[in-house]
Amino acid sequence: VNHSLTVPAYSGRSVAVAAGTTIHIVDPQGQQVGDLFAFTYPEPREWLSTGHTRVFNGSLFPPVGSPFVTQLRRPMLTLVTDTSPGVHDMLFPPCSPEAYVQYGVEGHHPSCRENFERAIAAAGVTLPFVPDPVNLFQNTPPDADGVLSRHTAASSPGDHVVLRAEVDVLVVLTSCSFDLTDFNGEACTELVIEVETEPLAVFAP
Ligand SMILES: [Zn+2]
Repeated sequence: VNHSLTVPAYSGRSVAVAAGTTIHIVDPQGQQVGDLFAFTYPEPREWLSTGHTRVFNGSLFPPVGSPFVTQLRRPMLTLVTDTSPGVHDMLFPPCSPEAYVQYGVEGHHPSCRENFERAIAAAGVTLPFVPDPVNLFQNTPPDADGVLSRHTAASSPGDHVVLRAEVDVLVVLTSCSFDLTDFNGEACTELVIEVETEPLAVFAP
């Protein structure tokens, strides 16, 4: 590992890496969802599209060895390894201030969308929209009737996924802030981004 970047609980971080770089997304304490976003770097002309990735692979989530693609169907990140039970989500948008209001929270509650916006602003990028994320370790599979369940993340301490960058890519990861149920286990915890070669840039929050 050349560079290790901790994404503390209730926050987000961004890092840019060159094509060919291997990235580990680690859940050190287990049961923690991470919302992953990715953009071409330095110009965010293309982004990881969960919709196009589902159709490209013909699956709700890419099998190991398969790519996450952009809205132009170009492979952006390939899922190389997954030590977790392989339970992830690509159907949910990031949790948001509006969602927490609707859940009945009074006052401000941290959210993946705000943490994403902060983290990408730190990278000098402003966007007119927020793409739907890859919700790593999120345990919300649809049943046969299409009903979305909501269970505790199935990842164990130290579980990780390994991604290979297929283009120069800006990766944004948020440690999900949802703490109204045991969705993220007993408490929201940190995630770690490990980059195997020198990153192009690491952005301070
Ligand atoms: Zn969240």
